[in-house]
Amino acid sequence: MSFATFPDRKVAPNAAAGTMKKPPWSEDSDADYSGRRPHVSQGGTVLVPSTPRNARRPTPPGGTIAVALLTLACCGGVALAAERMSAAHATIKAADAGRHVGVLADDAFEGREGGSRGGRAAAAYIVEQLTKLGLEPAGDGGSYFQPFGGMRNILAILRGSDPHLAEELVVVGAHYDHVGYGNADNSYGPFGYVHNGADDNASGVAGLLEVAEAIQHLPERPRRSILFAFWDGEEKGLLGSYHFLRVKPAALAHLRVAFALNLDMIGHLRGERLEVYGTRTAPGLREAVLQANNRPGNAAGLELTFVWDIEDDSDHYPFIAAKIPTVMFHTGLHDHYHRPSDDVHLVNLEGIEPVARLTLGFVTAIADDPAALPTFRPESRTESNATRNRLEGSIPDTDGSPRGRWGLGTRHDPGEPSSPVVVRVWRNSPAARAGLSPGDRILTVDEMRITGQDDMLARLRSAGPQSRVDIERRGRIMRLEMQETVE
Ligand SMILES: [Zn+2]
Repeated sequence: MSFATFPDRKVAPNAAAGTMKKPPWSEDSDADYSGRRPHVSQGGTVLVPSTPRNARRPTPPGGTIAVALLTLACCGGVALAAERMSAAHATIKAADAGRHVGVLADDAFEGREGGSRGGRAAAAYIVEQLTKLGLEPAGDGGSYFQPFGGMRNILAILRGSDPHLAEELVVVGAHYDHVGYGNADNSYGPFGYVHNGADDNASGVAGLLEVAEAIQHLPERPRRSILFAFWDGEEKGLLGSYHFLRVKPAALAHLRVAFALNLDMIGHLRGERLEVYGTRTAPGLREAVLQANNRPGNAAGLELTFVWDIEDDSDHYPFIAAKIPTVMFHTGLHDHYHRPSDDVHLVNLEGIEPVARLTLGFVTAIADDPAALPTFRPESRTESNATRNRLEGSIPDTDGSPRGRWGLGTRHDPGEPSSPVVVRVWRNSPAARAGLSPGDRILTVDEMRITGQDDMLARLRSAGPQSRVDIERRGRIMRLEMQETVE
């Protein structure tokens, strides 16, 4: 994630310690990495912290929530889908992700600055993995590389199985560069030390490699083509993703980018909370993320925070600026962001697994959807978290207005018309007793997916004395039963 957005965070002392070793796959095979030490920039201080190496993943509060089977419109045959996915899901492993993060965030890569030897060595490692997976190169001249300005994007493609839809490209990306030794323009300090970038963004690269491997284990190729893109130059201003959108390699020239997903900093999952950006760039995206997060048998089961702000702080932005529906997954900022202390032992490796599973389920659903994908929603550019808070803001039930049959007040959301937001729950009402609360989104009434607020109201009006509603609460779907009481 690029630096520009967060200028005022305080500097914390830290340093990367330990002996440097030479990466076997480095192109600069004659370059000697051994015995190098972090050079101390002018006036810099050397501090060696003793951080515990076995940082454990916190236990989520309050146990698991029963997940109701949701009859979502967009993909049929839930059971078949689950079965098809299980073999692929099973290949996603925290240990494998950990290996990738461990290698890419090693001191020997010197913080993988775009265009540097450490950056090139990291590229060699990624290409080695793609070659092992047998994915088709999609860069220039039949290679995986798309060079630009001394840097290189790494591109691999899985061609779609449908003759027409294969011309549509679903781009799944993660930047592999970081800030090298750090300086006043891109680091919170101390400068002059290897900024290992374990979370930013070795974690995203690891997640993407795990997803690429898993997709190779699907029984059939999805209908649309999927491009696995490892961007360079993100820390220098999103250079790789902008370049790709300006100049597509010849191998991809005839393909249209229909959707993009960005993985940036997915290594600090805390309490299973994941931030999801961009779902308002096209109708139905939130629902597709929900589907992947709650799919029976392959649920990622994460707690999702949908962020409406769109900032130019990572590679999702150039796609959104190009009016392409785009989503980003991110586990949030932390005190090691853009510091030498963004190290492997602080990464929640097990947390990368559910994020990669969510990515697999989501991307496969989009790439395999037989229907036309939704087009870009320009209103998303004028919306923000402030808009969200206004729309989702609850109404206190003190004004004495009549409560209606169920005691439930909702608001229409133009960005998600088929998921009205609960903004009011009357005390002691059937809705309150069933456990509904403001912020919930109504998805179904009596197992029927609602098409909008009016449809919901009509179904609730004609429902019997009991009505089951499936709701979404922070990305998780649950079924609640309202029981009407005879006054
Ligand atoms: Zn960054």
